[in-house]
Amino acid sequence: MTEEICTQDNVLTATLNLLRTSVENLKLSPVVYEYLKAPSRFVEAAIPVEMDSGEVKVFTGYRSQHNNVLGPYKGGIRYHWEVTPDEVKALSMWMTLKCALVGVPFGGGKGGIVCDPRILSKKEKERLSRGYIRAFGSVLGPELDIPAPDVYTDAQVMAWMADEYSNIRQAPAFGVVTGKPLSVGGCVGREEATSRGCAFAVREAAKALDLPIKGARVAIQGFGNVGGHAALLLAAEGCTIVAVSDSRSGVYNPEGLDASALIAHKKSTGAVAGFPGSKPITNLELLAVDCDILIPAAMENQITCDTAGSVKARIVAEGANGPTTPDGDAILFKKGVLVVPDILANSGGVTVSYFEWVQNNYGFRWDAETVNKRLEDKIVEAFRLVYLFTHQNGSTLDMRTGAYMYAVKKLSDAMQIRGWL
Ligand code: NAD
Repeated sequence: MTEEICTQDNVLTATLNLLRTSVENLKLSPVVYEYLKAPSRFVEAAIPVEMDSGEVKVFTGYRSQHNNVLGPYKGGIRYHWEVTPDEVKALSMWMTLKCALVGVPFGGGKGGIVCDPRILSKKEKERLSRGYIRAFGSVLGPELDIPAPDVYTDAQVMAWMADEYSNIRQAPAFGVVTGKPLSVGGCVGREEATSRGCAFAVREAAKALDLPIKGARVAIQGFGNVGGHAALLLAAEGCTIVAVSDSRSGVYNPEGLDASALIAHKKSTGAVAGFPGSKPITNLELLAVDCDILIPAAMENQITCDTAGSVKARIVAEGANGPTTPDGDAILFKKGVLVVPDILANSGGVTVSYFEWVQNNYGFRWDAETVNKRLEDKIVEAFRLVYLFTHQNGSTLDMRTGAYMYAVKKLSDAMQIRGWL
């Protein structure tokens, strides 16, 4: 616990504050903030689904289309019991910033359904996913708004969505979503792209701090797509994975956890808990574990006024979106922790989604080497530019503020040239 008083952990409020500060710091027209402060379009829809029992349940779904000054809206769809309109709006804003930052020609979008996917059967999940496309199909499209996977959605969900959209259009239109299986226009390397990008960002951050990556101790919160692949990729770089956790609990071994055996254990038991040779820890304890690199890869608002003080890592690389609150950020900054912000650290996902969309558009497939090399180039360059920008603007700036300012400047330039200002 710290002595600070926690402010409200509303992700939308925090994002708006940073956007306003960025516009002011850069001395841009206040109209830039007016464009960015709310989505261009926010749609809510009821999604009726016939459950396996024969009963009909009506779920609530959202799609936020934040800003398309750089290109079509782009962003994942989240299935989670705590999805709210504010969360979806903030997630779509981060997509706008992320695309600007990493230089992919997309705007920001995001969607969600309020549901508990852990208790849906496969068939119920399929009907829900198809229902989402029927509800929102008129505002989606390969040139308009392109969803992708997010928390509790995966390549299978994307395949159902691509199929449903193609049914509506009466033509194969797989480019409407990315993160698809390879057999229906997916891109090799997309599944692990967010983690691969995060691993590149970690490597660059470690270089900046003169921290040898080989032997660096890593703790990862969240062991799904992003967390699981990050563990594998960083272990391959020579890091020691000392702790991981999922929504239920965590496991710890200072000598190192075998990432691939842990993935197999999670697959067969449904949780990381009980992994042979590990000690149980809570999600809170995981954040405070003695390590060099901490990767939050689960949900928002984890590193807060209450938890940031006990973080021991030198680098926090945000695989998740919005895991650190403004209070948490301030505490980490004061402690000298290098935070690689979400809009940079997890931008590998949208980068390879962009590669997938390009390949869909011209009906050709790149090999893994091409995808991974192009991803590496994008992340390394984005890290370099943001790091430089942050430090050019004085040592009082943290990397999140630097990243926001860098992205907002690019958005403002595009608004200017398109005649929006
Ligand atoms: P996922 O559903 O594959 O995995 C989420 C993991 O987090 C699961 O292991 C779950 O058990 C765990 N979890 C949930 N709540 C938790 C909690 N309170 N504490 C600890 N663990 C918890 O989702 P994902 O795709 O890996 O996404 C994780 C994060 O990464 C999200 O913030 C998402 O927005 C972000 N992200 C994902 C992608 C992508 O390509 N999938 C891209 C960019 C950012």
